[in-house]
Amino acid sequence: MSTLKYGIMGGTFNPIHYAHLFIAEEVLDNFKLDKILFMPTGTPPHKQNINIDAFHRYTMTKLAVSNNPNFLVSDLEVLNSNVSYSVDTIRKLKLNHPDIEFYFITGTDAILELPTWKEPRELLSLCKFVSVNRPNYVDENLVNKINIIKNNLGGEIFLLNGHDINLSSTQIRQRVREGKTVRYLLPDSVNDYILKNKLYV
Ligand code: NAP
Repeated sequence: MSTLKYGIMGGTFNPIHYAHLFIAEEVLDNFKLDKILFMPTGTPPHKQNINIDAFHRYTMTKLAVSNNPNFLVSDLEVLNSNVSYSVDTIRKLKLNHPDIEFYFITGTDAILELPTWKEPRELLSLCKFVSVNRPNYVDENLVNKINIIKNNLGGEIFLLNGHDINLSSTQIRQRVREGKTVRYLLPDSVNDYILKNKLYV
């Protein structure tokens, strides 16, 4: 029997939008993964004051993936009242699912900070990483920088270029604040949820 492969899509998802969903789909396709597990952050290590309840971010993520059987959402970090470190999250997942191979998917900016994360060497031994470039992100030294991280810490980090949807949660929050529509930038169910709960106004 071949090993199951799951992508872990870690992020704030404040709110989740079509670029996140497309990235997840593209990684699933490129790396022949079985599922993508979205992991909205609870209290992330480096941002102690996200001004929106983790419950809303989690609920919007659930709504966004509800029509895709390959996309799942975990409440592991959202339910953790302490700061969530990725190494602890992946350790728990590995404990419950020792046979699954995990691919941690996140933005390149976050991955370049990996050496400052908690127990980065241990984390890289527990899962592989997929670093996704934002559109217009240019760093000619990126491959070098990633190689240095791999040489120092071990493990595998893959780079995925080519997604060029210029969409960010910051942009979406800004538009809502300005009373502009965000329909077609994210799933209708998420749009409805934002309006109903008066988020970001
Ligand atoms: P973030 O603020 O949500 O994302 C940073 C940037 O990457 C944003 O531009 C974001 O776009 C984009 N992005 C979000 N999710 C993405 C994904 N899955 N793939 C590609 N791009 C993505 O997240 P973050 O605070 O950088 O954290 C990312 C992950 O790293 C989280 O799971 C976090 O827990 C983990 N982390 C762990 C440690 C640690 O353990 N010490 C330290 C730092 C980060 P949008 O703004 O449009 O969302």
